[in-house]
Amino acid sequence: MPKSVLVIHGGCGAIPKAELTPEINRAAREALTLALRTGYRILESGGSALDAVTEAVVILENDPVFNAGYGAALNRNGLHELDSSVMDGALGLAGAVAGARRIRNPVRVARELAKVSDPLLLIGEAADSWAAKHGFELVDNSYFTTPSRQEALARMLAREEGDDLSPAPERDKHGTVGAAALDLHGHLAAATSTGGYTAKPAGRVGDTPIIGAGTWADDRTCALSGTGKGELFIRRALGHEVHARMLYGGASLEQATGEMIAEMTALSGGAGLIAVDRDGNVALPFNTEGMYRGWISAQGVYVAVHED
Ligand code: ASP
Repeated sequence: MPKSVLVIHGGCGAIPKAELTPEINRAAREALTLALRTGYRILESGGSALDAVTEAVVILENDPVFNAGYGAALNRNGLHELDSSVMDGALGLAGAVAGARRIRNPVRVARELAKVSDPLLLIGEAADSWAAKHGFELVDNSYFTTPSRQEALARMLAREEGDDLSPAPERDKHGTVGAAALDLHGHLAAATSTGGYTAKPAGRVGDTPIIGAGTWADDRTCALSGTGKGELFIRRALGHEVHARMLYGGASLEQATGEMIAEMTALSGGAGLIAVDRDGNVALPFNTEGMYRGWISAQGVYVAVHED
């Protein structure tokens, strides 16, 4: 009988070890643990991988430490534009929203869209009004704003005005949350949600709502969620590429994910992935200083931020 496994991330833009206060460290670890336990409870009671990843991501969207939902990054106009997607590895169904401004929990709407997968991806105001029509909670755009995201935007804009050409800190560039799961029925699913990156241009869409880039699930191979330089994930069809290397090239999950993170490194893109394969193996590679991450299975619970 298949075992259940849930693996999650809270973005590869973790605060550098030297600057991570005990309070933020504790808050991040508590939220990751809560997300893991919430999703795992669903899996252990026979629920679907799709429901488990959705509910795990909802916990992270609601936590201001992470760049998704409440506490999402601000674009350069001082607004939040949220991207999210889910994919069901059993049926190949998927749903996504991009540039949503008022949906409190974008992943729930992506999950609802995945039921029929037509339309599969809705953008902007159309996503917001579809969500409202289907009974999802809308909030004012300012609901998502936190002081630390306002400070990050001010830092980023000041750096540009000052012609600072040095790379911006990873924590201002990256952040996303995501989950991938294997359920007791042997099905895989993945979900991802993000505010993008601080000071992104209005209307910019990253890899998170692009099926085959930042999110992928297929029962024959793996389920995964990505974080990092979205443009590179899209250009390399990263999620689908991991799947293809496994399906057609015979690569293991560890090899396929490791190779793709190495490609991102070669392209100078900060990146991370969390993934689970059909046998319940997990992989959590990243090339930045830290990635909020964790997994839960019959073996126990693991949560980490930096290399350890
Ligand atoms: N992948 C996200 C995006 O490009 C951001 C991140 O995870 O750092 O929108």
